Amino acid sequence: MNNEEVRALRKAFDSVKERQAQNLLEGFSDRTKRLILSRDLCVGNEELLEHAIVNLRKNGIKVYLAREKKEALEIILEEIGKEKTIVKSKSNVTKELGLTKFLEKKGLIVVETDIGDRILQILDAKPSHPTGPVTHLSAKEIAKGISKYYDLPVTQTPEDIVKIVKADIVSNLEKAKIGITGANAITAEEGSILMTHNEGNIHEVMRKEKHIVVTSIDKIYQDIEDAVNMIKILSFNATGSIIPSFLDIISGISKTADVEKKFVKGIHNPSEIVLVLVDNKRSDLARKGFKELLKCIGCGNCLLHCPMYNTIGNEYAIESYLGGKGLAYYSLYTDEPHEKLELCLRCGKCRENCPLELDIPEIIKNLRSTGVSSEFYYFLKSHMVWVYYQSLLRLEAEKK
Ligand code: SF4
Repeated sequence: MNNEEVRALRKAFDSVKERQAQNLLEGFSDRTKRLILSRDLCVGNEELLEHAIVNLRKNGIKVYLAREKKEALEIILEEIGKEKTIVKSKSNVTKELGLTKFLEKKGLIVVETDIGDRILQILDAKPSHPTGPVTHLSAKEIAKGISKYYDLPVTQTPEDIVKIVKADIVSNLEKAKIGITGANAITAEEGSILMTHNEGNIHEVMRKEKHIVVTSIDKIYQDIEDAVNMIKILSFNATGSIIPSFLDIISGISKTADVEKKFVKGIHNPSEIVLVLVDNKRSDLARKGFKELLKCIGCGNCLLHCPMYNTIGNEYAIESYLGGKGLAYYSLYTDEPHEKLELCLRCGKCRENCPLELDIPEIIKNLRSTGVSSEFYYFLKSHMVWVYYQSLLRLEAEKK
């Protein structure tokens, strides 16, 4: 990420912080306490997972539990069958699986329908925030990239960029019969799937003939009330809004009992809902004592406050595993401490600003440390890197 991108990232982060300051609700700390309790109860809870699966199936949702990445990819491919164009929405779990690249290698066309994700896909760029993936790119940079891709003149305005990308998304939505989305929560008591979004694209994707939902086993909540509580905290921390524009709760396919009280199913799309619950080492991590990291709801508030992330951007990341928390999770997932963990300043800002109070600096210390001398070395290294890049940013700002 270059200095211009870091500055754009900081500007976007500042506007989220401003919205948070304007929208902070009374009673928010009660909400976060409730979230902490519900995450503690749900993450790594095999019994609750089983209960959720039983109720989802009662609601007519086809559920798979994929223990490994390869298994999840094969299930999705089989469910896609002979279809060639797939539309999808933002999903961290599909990124973790490398789903798009996997399907493209099989000759399929996969089209992201979130504007930011579609831009990222076209530019083949790296994300910088879980909900605002192109936060670090200026309209000028985006216009240049998409103009080349579509072979069209594009003015450097957000309106023109969105108009052109949207037209492409709409034409692919018309062609596709299968939509893939993620999910923000699965509820055990009701057997429901919850999805939030601001753009409305998920409405279009989930109303294809077949809706495939791909999410992970750590997204289970006891009931809808707990899940909605999480969504309000997620929305506030990710965007500064009290609630996202849309919240969809799916508890089965469309049906009617209007004629003689006899159920007829599949009146409107989707006529089939498939849920792939991905484990991919999560149970192992929970058993090995790393349950804390799995409690993360992916709001990205830690990134807004991380001084290293605000200085070198997504250089302090690997793929879509962003910042200290992302790198810690990636290291546990791959069973090897990633070298970028050495860049953590252990300042504690992520912990202070995490709604779940996750102690990321402590997890990082345990992962990277071989003793007091190594921690001293990482302290020096991280601070030198930080001071160096901060100075470059300042010098450049003074020149302008
Ligand atoms: S402790 Fe590390 S990951 Fe957390 S905010 Fe500070 S530099 Fe970032």
